Amino acid sequence: MLAVAAAQLGYRTHVYAPETGPANDVSGTYTRGGYYDAGELAKFARAVDVITYEFENIAVAPIEGVALMAPIHPSPRSLAVAQDRAEEKAFVEALGGRPAPWRRVDNRAALDEAIAAIGCPAILKTATLGYDGKGQARIASPADADAAWEAIAGAPAVLEGFVTFDHEFSILLVRGADGAIASYPPPHNEHRDGILARSSVPAPAPVAAQWTEAAALAGRVAEALDHVGVLTLEFFATADGPVFNEMAPRVHNSGHWTIEGAVTSQFENHIRAICGLPLGDTGLTGTRVVMENLIGEDAAGWDAILGERDAHLHLYGKHEARPGRKMGHVTRVTR
Ligand code: AMP
Repeated sequence: MLAVAAAQLGYRTHVYAPETGPANDVSGTYTRGGYYDAGELAKFARAVDVITYEFENIAVAPIEGVALMAPIHPSPRSLAVAQDRAEEKAFVEALGGRPAPWRRVDNRAALDEAIAAIGCPAILKTATLGYDGKGQARIASPADADAAWEAIAGAPAVLEGFVTFDHEFSILLVRGADGAIASYPPPHNEHRDGILARSSVPAPAPVAAQWTEAAALAGRVAEALDHVGVLTLEFFATADGPVFNEMAPRVHNSGHWTIEGAVTSQFENHIRAICGLPLGDTGLTGTRVVMENLIGEDAAGWDAILGERDAHLHLYGKHEARPGRKMGHVTRVTR
């Protein structure tokens, strides 16, 4: 989707990845290379004018090396903070944000101490490499501690108190190379089995009431990181205001609705930002926009979606529909 947005602005994209994927179908050049392959990364960096990434589960050190050879946005600093749950919580807290009560858990004894400090129910999450609810274990009572520690395979983790929330929402913000910031109306996000199922805009009133505070925090985070590109912060809307969940230094699934539902999509705005162009308008194109992910076998219903007048179907061209795998999405815009 980034490559399509870049092509529309007249740019050619060169994808670097360890395996082929949907981006290969829509970009001109491809380097198959490992994320630690310094030689291939250097060749790639010399062949391009500007670099971005849309996946945070990559190591920071090789990206720092690449940053010495070509401009890269967002910077390795944004990547380092956003890829570690403990780092991002501490960073956001220092800027006045409020995460769920949390503790670092680096060994089994620390888990018992964290449970005693935070109480139950709680969630143990790996500090890095988690996505779509993976790398998480719920702890209903201290008796679950052994099973939770085993479930995350003893990786460095954080324990979080369980948050009672009315809604989940995200702030999608884009910061330009000149420091200008634009943010989208916040989508209300609904999950199924820990995976985003649906994002809808405008969000219900309790979310709208927390938009200003959450967007101001996201703006402070973007500025403190000198972030260039799209930055996403996820929140729980609670009776006491927005509770920060996690952030991503990239375009986000909860912003896919912006392709048809906003004047300028998150993908185009990201490309504009990293190429030093002015940002585009982030307003809605309709009165209501709903994006639904097509997960696993959901994608088999594509032909019915094509028959709907206001539905925009996106299929990612992934060859195998595994349970839990995001195969595409559909956005419905009410004019
Ligand atoms: P995450 O990967 O951290 O976004 O977690 C996936 C989903 O699990 C979230 O979108 C929430 O629905 C739920 N979840 C995660 N952390 C908490 C928490 N501390 N309290 C309540 N629900 C949570």
